[in-house]
Amino acid sequence: MTPLIEADGLGRSYQQAGEAVVALSPASLRIWPSQRIALVGRSGSGKSTLLHLLAGLDQPSCGKLAWPTLGPVESLLPEKVALVFQAPSLLDSLSVAENVALPLLMAGQGRDSAARVAFALKTFGLLALVDKLPQTLSGGQMQCVAMARAIVGQPKLILADEPTGQLDQLSAQALLDALFRHLADSECALLIATHDPVIAARMDIHWHMEHGLLSCGERTAGSV
Ligand code: ADP
Ligand code: MG
Repeated sequence: MTPLIEADGLGRSYQQAGEAVVALSPASLRIWPSQRIALVGRSGSGKSTLLHLLAGLDQPSCGKLAWPTLGPVESLLPEKVALVFQAPSLLDSLSVAENVALPLLMAGQGRDSAARVAFALKTFGLLALVDKLPQTLSGGQMQCVAMARAIVGQPKLILADEPTGQLDQLSAQALLDALFRHLADSECALLIATHDPVIAARMDIHWHMEHGLLSCGERTAGSV
C-alpha cells in the first residue's frame, strides 16, 4: 500500500520580531488510507502549522513532503484533501447550502451538486439550516456546516483543526458519531487536531505535539 502523505524531516519556522520561532521541529510521518489519527497538543504546540503543511497550504522551511497517491500539491484542495479550518471559514454572503457546495464547484462538479449537498447536510443534521446565512448560525452550527463541506466531495483525506472547539461535549460527540458513521468502510483517512481528550480517545492513533516536537505512533488499545 502507498501512503497518502509521506514527510521526512518536515519543519517550519516563522520569523517573529526578527527571531525565528520553530513551530514544527523536523518530523517524519506517514498517513495511510483509513487511518483515524488524533493530533493532540496544547495551544501553540504547532498543530495548525502541521495541518496547513499537510494540506499543501503552506511551504515547509525544511524537509520533504509528498502526496504519493494524491498527486501534485496544486491538485489537493479541496477535491482530494478537505481542510476544516480552526477559524470560522464559511463565506458570509453565501447560504449554508452554497457554502457546502463550494468544493464541488471548485472541482467542476457543480452541475449535480444539489443531491450531494443535501446528503452532506443531512449527515450532520443540518437540513433545516439550508438557506441560512452564516452570521445567523451559532459557532457550533458553523463548525457542523464546515464539516459537511469537508465530506461533500468525498475526499481521500480530511484534516480537521479543532473541529469541535465551539461545541459542548454532547454536540461534539454527536458530530463525531455522524462523521464516523459516514466514514465507516471508507478508505478516507481522518486527522483531527484537538486538545479535547474525550475526542482524542475516539481515534485509533494518537500523535502528540509539544513545543513543535511531534511524536507519532502511540496507539490506543485495539488499534491496528
Ligand atoms: P496550535 O495550532 O497548536 O495552537 P500553531 O501551529 O498555531 O499552534 O502555532 C505554533 C507556533 O507558531 C506558535 O508559537 C505560533 O505563535 C507560531 N505561529 C503560527 N503561525 C504563525 C505565523 N503565521 N507567523 C508567525 N508565527 C506563527
Ligand atoms: Mg491551532
